[in-house]
Amino acid sequence: MLHTAIANKQIELAYQPQVTKDNRVTGVEVLARWSNDEFGAISPVEFIPIAEHTGLIIELGNHVIESAFITAKEWANKGIDIRYMSINLSARQIMHFNFVNDVTALFKKYFDENSRPRIVFEITEGIAAEGKDVCDVINEIRKLGIRFSMDDFGTGYSSLSYIRNLPIDEIKIDRHFIGELSQYKNAEEMVDTILHIAKIFNLEVVAEGVETEEQRQFLIEHGCKIFQGYFYSKPVCKEDFEKFYLQNS
Ligand code: C2E
Ligand code: CA
Ligand code: CA
Repeated sequence: MLHTAIANKQIELAYQPQVTKDNRVTGVEVLARWSNDEFGAISPVEFIPIAEHTGLIIELGNHVIESAFITAKEWANKGIDIRYMSINLSARQIMHFNFVNDVTALFKKYFDENSRPRIVFEITEGIAAEGKDVCDVINEIRKLGIRFSMDDFGTGYSSLSYIRNLPIDEIKIDRHFIGELSQYKNAEEMVDTILHIAKIFNLEVVAEGVETEEQRQFLIEHGCKIFQGYFYSKPVCKEDFEKFYLQNS
């Protein structure tokens, strides 16, 4: 069914705003959505692993990238000025021999020198285990002006040498750490430490899963500048994102 859904372009995108401390939209993360006639909405937590396992992730991933590029272009034409649009990548996708070619072709199909979108690819820590090859891929993609962000930071095989050696621009603090903020003393120290690490390596930080004003306050006091989570908005359809943008820009 996933195969058919991808072929029929039934995988759609949801958009979740990333917001600054003065509550302006600065970025957006695109998240894949599959709503099936028989089963209703199926979570990406379920279908992304299936896509990875079956190899469908290549087709699915390219579809997500292309759909996101189309939206980025549309928004640029409408004057919706989003600083960065973030797209999730799977390890298997980035290590596919044709990844650089596929991304480059899509990029050239929708953009030219005068309309360069600001795109971020989110990768996870597991990818670093691929070693030097993954750095080569990242560096090739960066030539297009695309940035890289380390998603779910702190949950995988976090290693300071990965952070130092991988050519990335940003880290995203995993939402589980944010969720624990008011519950455990050491959660505050962990988040504070991650913010310090980011500073040392000169990386931008996005805090994910911000749900409460207290979490937001803590993060602001500790130097975080970009926030994402239900406190601001759930991932929504394109039209609703546009409304949110107009109210918060
Ligand atoms: P992720 O990249 O860590 O995305 C963030 C997830 O946290 C999203 O779940 C989002 O809806 C949820 N979230 C955002 N704010 C909050 C909050 O304040 N509280 C809570 N409890 N949750 C929040 P979603 O959309 O179900 O996506 C789950 C995961 O599926 C993503 O986690 C990502 O790993 C994967 N995924 C989604 N779309 C794609 C895609 O196009 N490609 C790939 N490779 N993976 C994707
Ligand atoms: Ca993500
Ligand atoms: Ca994440």
